Amino acid sequence: MKRRDLLGVAMSTALLQGVLPAGAIAKGASRSRARPGTPAWPNAKEWQALRTQTGGRLLALSSPFARGQSEAVRNEALAGLKNPYYIGDHPALTQTSGWQDAWTSRASTYAVAARDAADVAAAVSFARRHNLRLVVKGGGHSYSGASNASDSLLVWTRAMNRVEMIDAFVAQSCPKESAQPAVHVGAGAMWADAYAEVTTRGGRYVQGGGCTTVGVAGLVQGGGFGSFSKGFGTAAASLIEAEVVTADGAIRIANAYTNPDLFWALKGGGGGSFGVVTRLTLRTHALPAFFGAVFGEITASSNDALRALLARFVDFYRASLFNKHWGEAVSLRDGKKLKLSMVFQGLDEAQARATWAPFFAWVRDRKEYSFAEPAVMAIPARHFWDPLFFQKHAPGLTTMDGRPGASPDHHFWTGDGEQGGWFIHGYQSTWLPAALLAPQRQGALVDALCAAAAHWDVELHFNKGLAGAPAAALAATRDTAMNPAVLDAFALAIIAGGGGPAFPGMPGATVDEARARHAAVRIGAGIDALRTAAPDAGTYVSESDYFQARWQDAYWGVNYARLAQVKRAVDPGGLFFVHHGVGSEAWSADGFTRRA
Ligand SMILES: Cc1cc2nc3c(=O)[nH]c(=O)nc-3n(C[C@H](O)[C@H](O)[C@H](O)COP(=O)(O)OP(=O)(O)OC[C@H]3O[C@@H](n4cnc5c(N)ncnc54)[C@H](O)[C@@H]3O)c2cc1C
Repeated sequence: MKRRDLLGVAMSTALLQGVLPAGAIAKGASRSRARPGTPAWPNAKEWQALRTQTGGRLLALSSPFARGQSEAVRNEALAGLKNPYYIGDHPALTQTSGWQDAWTSRASTYAVAARDAADVAAAVSFARRHNLRLVVKGGGHSYSGASNASDSLLVWTRAMNRVEMIDAFVAQSCPKESAQPAVHVGAGAMWADAYAEVTTRGGRYVQGGGCTTVGVAGLVQGGGFGSFSKGFGTAAASLIEAEVVTADGAIRIANAYTNPDLFWALKGGGGGSFGVVTRLTLRTHALPAFFGAVFGEITASSNDALRALLARFVDFYRASLFNKHWGEAVSLRDGKKLKLSMVFQGLDEAQARATWAPFFAWVRDRKEYSFAEPAVMAIPARHFWDPLFFQKHAPGLTTMDGRPGASPDHHFWTGDGEQGGWFIHGYQSTWLPAALLAPQRQGALVDALCAAAAHWDVELHFNKGLAGAPAAALAATRDTAMNPAVLDAFALAIIAGGGGPAFPGMPGATVDEARARHAAVRIGAGIDALRTAAPDAGTYVSESDYFQARWQDAYWGVNYARLAQVKRAVDPGGLFFVHHGVGSEAWSADGFTRRA
């Protein structure tokens, strides 16, 4: 065994026993992580040892668009980019191909295609011993590029996708009376896998994300919102227990009684910062009878008409939709349209129609608006994620992963496919406090929305702010690491734009940089306009600006100090690094060099 291996073992033993002061590993470690071609990079024999230890599941990676790849490989990847399941199944690709002036998707040098926690522990220990840049990828949906880095070792959890329902789960060391219905979800599972088991086959509900191909582990660790979060809270708030491999290579259980601080940090403290989660256990809920949706688009004939429409809508929202039943979004398009893409739960179709009737009547009564008949529909909730149901009753709304051998559970909302591999020009977001819905503040909110919409399209995601949610959902979310501002926000406003996929080396992928930068400026002006009504309102870590100012405050608010403490305790050497993650201040932007 080499000296540095012995040191690693000694350090991890000490850490396990809790005798290492915070930062002790950091002081002994080299300031720069190893890169291929440098003396510190592991030799072929060492890589082979890791390959053997992980049952042959160490892969050498290169992008399908890298120089030297065959035309067949390139063409297959080009066709596959339309299918998020294809992208997710490729260890060298990510669901976003990059972000102007921020990051570009790069393949790791090696990946461990982990099958279990032991594989993950082997990879983590190897990375720590050899001072490697370690990356963790589940669904690959990070907008900020947190699940890719060149010259790194990737822990790829994709194959760990088992989902299992439990009638009465008692977390380790927790009292027997805490038994509750739950679901175990492997770290590589996507929400499509979880919903198929829990809802379509199991007849229950689990709070997950809206997009079916997003990874369960990544979404939960960011906080995580789904269409019905206004009723059930965040995904993080549903976490009962996690199995996690920490930087010392230990496989730990974290729940309210065992490693409670780590458990709390995993609930919204951001993915890729505290360890590799290998299994999550999430609370399940009784399934409502129906889930439904309201779609429509109203076009205003002038700026004044748009302002009046927004004023009417905001008042209608406060009076009729600001409750547990209503989620998803409206968007302001082209400076003159209000697009409705709302969903509901706990109501039937007639109740949903009755709710909207006064607002639609108001619009119809005014000649300054053009308005196609809106669609209001409800379906038995059990079919909401059921591909067979959609193929029969609403073909086109969802798209199957059509590859031979693909899981029959794997479909995606056709609209989400537009983001496959997209290249971001600008992406900004802010929570909007519910105080803005008070009658005397509505004017300021509407002014800010109109001003923002003059710069760029604006989306209001009502399910991504929890004000208006039931007390139980608020209490569970209060006990997470997210910025408590989420509890007071009625919506998350998102202003974003981008272009088609632009992976390095991809044929035909050129980014018009001037256009992309111009878009970023306009998007920035849009969010500034909104912030006149909502200064310092905080935002959602997983859907925010790569260049977010004062990101610690924006993402975690008063919780940041405690998160930083947990980070120092579980990862004193900073093995787990992500851009704007907890503790990332100590590292250069690429995570390779310690700043001090
Ligand atoms: C098309 C699209 C739709 C989206 N829809 C929603 C939505 O409806 N609701 C919502 O709240 N968010 C949504 N998001 C944001 C999404 O929740 C986050 O980007 C989330 O982190 C993605 O998780 P992932 O596993 O797919 O991504 P990855 O890029 O694989 O991971 C994201 C982060 O989590 C870390 N991570 C992943 N797995 C693990 C693990 N097992 N242990 C430790 N760290 C891990 C990664 O290192 C990375 O830092 C969406 C994003 C996209 C691109």
